[in-house]
Amino acid sequence: MSKSKTAKGTAIKQIEMRRCVACRQVRHKSELLRFVKASDTISIDVTGKAPGRGAYVCKSSECAELIKKRRNLDRVFKVKVPNELYDMIKETVLM
Ligand SMILES: [Zn+2]
Repeated sequence: MSKSKTAKGTAIKQIEMRRCVACRQVRHKSELLRFVKASDTISIDVTGKAPGRGAYVCKSSECAELIKKRRNLDRVFKVKVPNELYDMIKETVLM
């Protein structure tokens, strides 16, 4: 039984700014790693241009850690995200 928070109707229309799903900070897209949901599979979108529902996380080890601990992507995409992907995030941001 999950109580889902309703997103506020304040759509920020700043083109290049996105919010990190882990720390909730708004950053420039270049500082964020994008994930995309295609069918029911979540993957890291290295190009940042893949079609589909997207989510962002800072390219920092803290946020990679945080997102894994909290499983933020499971909630964002409403699917079960495999641990391997969370591990991959850490590897990707540490590169
Ligand atoms: Zn962050």
